[in-house]
Amino acid sequence: MVNEILYKEIAGFSKSKNTTLVAVSKIKPASDIQQMYDLGQRDFGENYVQELVEKQAVLPADIIWHFLGHLQSNKVKYIAPFVHLIHSVDSEKLLKEIDKQAAKNHRKINVLLQIHIAEEQTKFGFNEPELMKLDVNLYPNVNITGLMGMATFTDDKEKVKREFEQLKSFYTSFEHVKKVKLDTLSMGMSDDYELAVNCGSNMIRIGSLLFGKRV
Ligand SMILES: *Cc1c(COP(=O)(O)O)cnc(C)c1O
Repeated sequence: MVNEILYKEIAGFSKSKNTTLVAVSKIKPASDIQQMYDLGQRDFGENYVQELVEKQAVLPADIIWHFLGHLQSNKVKYIAPFVHLIHSVDSEKLLKEIDKQAAKNHRKINVLLQIHIAEEQTKFGFNEPELMKLDVNLYPNVNITGLMGMATFTDDKEKVKREFEQLKSFYTSFEHVKKVKLDTLSMGMSDDYELAVNCGSNMIRIGSLLFGKRV
């Protein structure tokens, strides 16, 4: 079930801040996505390859699909024909495979590099030295358009704020050092999206506030 009131509120907030709202629909039925689509939402995010492929096949063709979850190289081929943006690129091996599958599909694939900003070791992503030593010219069929990060799961807002500010500063220095033009800083989820936007995010990924808690 979609929370229509909250959806309209968050979509309005997002628009007023020039931010893209990605509705995170993982584990939720295609009917929920259709319901939000009918309210005007077009950007949806999924975490599991098979689930995304199944939903893409039955939902409207103009949905803009984002991939957010940890992506195994051997599964890139299933989403390469249609995915709009992969937020969760966390290794050079994965970049290489996305480049290869993009070429096979005669398209460029947009990606964000996932950066490890949280204290939890369970979260994936590049650290700062790994990010800065990446050779962005090795992947001609990949558009690296920005960075994505997830803050530590905590009530400590100051800590979350410091992590978001750190990601924003990586974003600025990556652009500067690599002489690339980025346009997307993907940070902020249900619990921290307003703080994220205040820290410079222009893409928020919201699931449970819009679709209800996942079980
Ligand atoms: C699940 C998920 C979200 C959405 O989380 P909510 O707390 O439900 O808003 C955002 N980003 C990523 C990478 C996720 O895996």
